[in-house]
Amino acid sequence: MTISATQALSKTVAVFSKSYLPINQINIKRAIILLVTGKAEPLDLNDGSQFISVHSPTMLLLVPQHIRLTVNHREKIWKAPTVNRREVLRRDRQTCQYCGNTRHLTIDHLIPVSKGGESTWDNVVTACETCNNRKGDRTPQQAGLTLRRQPKTPVHPIVAFAAQFWRAHKIQREGQS
Ligand SMILES: [Zn+2]
Repeated sequence: MTISATQALSKTVAVFSKSYLPINQINIKRAIILLVTGKAEPLDLNDGSQFISVHSPTMLLLVPQHIRLTVNHREKIWKAPTVNRREVLRRDRQTCQYCGNTRHLTIDHLIPVSKGGESTWDNVVTACETCNNRKGDRTPQQAGLTLRRQPKTPVHPIVAFAAQFWRAHKIQREGQS
């Protein structure tokens, strides 16, 4: 794959930790910096993926589509984000979980706080003002409201990336055999 430097900037490279865990998707510029500074090395997954060759007026760079860090990356336990307005809205894709409205959003406790409901991932949803008012101090069932989907603890973006990476890879491999 030969592309111009400008096109290359939109390409991404998958980064693996020293212990071969997929950890991130980064832009090609960052990947080049990691490679040039020796903080990463090309990783051949033997999956037929090719180098992205980037031309600039003065040089030609071959950038692998997967790189592995050569430095230690702190392997963390990727905890779920804490429950707050921003994270709840993000999880629910800025959409009222009752009617699909995307404006005048509030946070609704399924079991109301006044009834002992807590601010946990499975008890909070994004709701528009109208639905929240209609629900009042009741549970969705009592108010005759139906949830579009059951609220769950969101997956950390890094975990989501790893899951998606391996899923895509499995499909590729099955396609090859
Ligand atoms: Zn609504």
